[in-house]
Amino acid sequence: MNLTGKMLIGQQAVAGSREASQAIDPATDEPLQPPYAGGTIEQVDQACALAWAAFDSYRETSLEVRAGFLETIAEEIEALGERLIERAMAETGLPRQRIHGERGRTCQQLRTFARTVRAGEWLDVRVDRAQPARQPLPRPDLRQRQVPLGPVAVFGASNFPLAFSVAGGDTASALAAGCPVVVKAHGAHPGTSELVGRAVARAVARCALPEGVFSLLYGSGREVGTALVADPRIRAVGFTGSRSGGLALCQVAQARPEPIPVYAEMSSINPVFLFPAALQARGEALAQGFVASLTQGAGQFCTNPGLVIARQGPALERFVAAAAERVQRSPAQTMLTPGIFQAFEAGVGALAEQPLARTLATGLPGEGPNQGQAHLFATQAQAFLAEPALQAEVFGAASLIVACADAEQVRQVAEHMEGQLTATLHLDEADLDEARALLPTLERKAGRLLVNGWPTGVEVCDAMVHGGPFPATSDPRTTSVGTAAILRFLRPVCYQDFPDALLPAALRHGNPLQLRRLLDGQREARQHA
Ligand code: NAP
Repeated sequence: MNLTGKMLIGQQAVAGSREASQAIDPATDEPLQPPYAGGTIEQVDQACALAWAAFDSYRETSLEVRAGFLETIAEEIEALGERLIERAMAETGLPRQRIHGERGRTCQQLRTFARTVRAGEWLDVRVDRAQPARQPLPRPDLRQRQVPLGPVAVFGASNFPLAFSVAGGDTASALAAGCPVVVKAHGAHPGTSELVGRAVARAVARCALPEGVFSLLYGSGREVGTALVADPRIRAVGFTGSRSGGLALCQVAQARPEPIPVYAEMSSINPVFLFPAALQARGEALAQGFVASLTQGAGQFCTNPGLVIARQGPALERFVAAAAERVQRSPAQTMLTPGIFQAFEAGVGALAEQPLARTLATGLPGEGPNQGQAHLFATQAQAFLAEPALQAEVFGAASLIVACADAEQVRQVAEHMEGQLTATLHLDEADLDEARALLPTLERKAGRLLVNGWPTGVEVCDAMVHGGPFPATSDPRTTSVGTAAILRFLRPVCYQDFPDALLPAALRHGNPLQLRRLLDGQREARQHA
């Protein structure tokens, strides 16, 4: 299948007429064919009009049809075969194994949402039956279900060209909720986006859904992205990327005559707390696990461990020596884009020049372009508390070790941190009391707390939370990974005293969808396997 450089407005492949850009192979700095011309404001308008036209019929598709659609997208992505893998590798510099794994995760994510849609729990059906004889006033019949918000704008992420891009978690959860999706492709991987976009469009056609259920646009964020978020038919936004980009889109969404929610996942340095007994007992092993997590994927994960906090003393010194030695031996890795490499270089350069931090180790130099070297820095708790620059996310394999005088200073550092996606605790039995004392602070700061593991590697499942207080995300009440991500694109509607024939199927008296309802205050037993 040849790449065309065209966008998808519903089922139509159309060329943009704004400035064209090409993907760059970050391993060679060579541009990749074809050029992708940016969409016009009129084309944004067409995609939004089609999405709006599709909304009412798509949102009332049966659970089975919608689940089947998600499964068909997964099939179509798998059918792209090696072509997809090779293009994604060329556009991102990521190794084959990683892209293979990410394709598997993307398809599993779509199938997991299909299972979620079929189970119907997300409809959260609540029924309070009428009590005509209630005194002093009768109670009406009240029934609640969740309905989708409307068309969703999705911004593909640079660091997950499949799992958080055109058919990634935001798209899968929005489609699962019953929302049409208009994707603004990330300029770093337009060819991968085109291949996946066409797979989604084929699934739309195979499932005989209205064409506006899915569109794919190219172009600059400031032009196409802003116009998309400002369009009155768009009702929510999913975004993964920089803090400045996420905040800019939040402002556009808030400035609309009808403001809308933006679910932006932006910036997190994912603190790791090493408690004294664990550090004393297994400093070497902790250093090994830490450096493996830090350097995985050139550190380009939103859950990369960018901050390590521990009590100063000989055990921390042994950990630091072992981690520094491993960082020094880490090979440089190709980063996703020249821009991300330059931002990384600027970030580590600023830390290296920061008088309150010292460089502990730098990884091996690279040979080709855009090769990021791992970096490890150290500072004292007092300095961390005094200097905001030490908290800035450096996207890539860079981390800062903060030495604290005592448990109280560890708590102060935790209290001082911005909101995070994750907080990690390495502890032994003897550390439990100290860890327990820190938990209230960490619960306020992070969306996922983990013990004796590493934050990189985010399971797609029902219990996952990939979210957290600002600036980790723009809305700490939700997650962008896992089945609970569907809740971002839903809102409740209550039906009062509706005749049965007028009620949606999910709310009818005979419970034809066999949903597990909250009926007069009691959760019903599961009715089917
Ligand atoms: P980005 O610059 O935020 O871009 C993400 C998307 O948002 C792109 O489609 C971009 O379009 C659009 N965008 C950016 N600024 C915008 C604005 N002011 N108005 C409207 N749309 C805008 O992120 P990136 O390209 O993926 O990477 C850049 C940096 O983001 C990295 O160096 C890293 O610091 C951070 N990042 C963080 C995470 C994380 O998970 N925490 C993940 C990826 C990246 P255009 O490119 O066309 O402007």
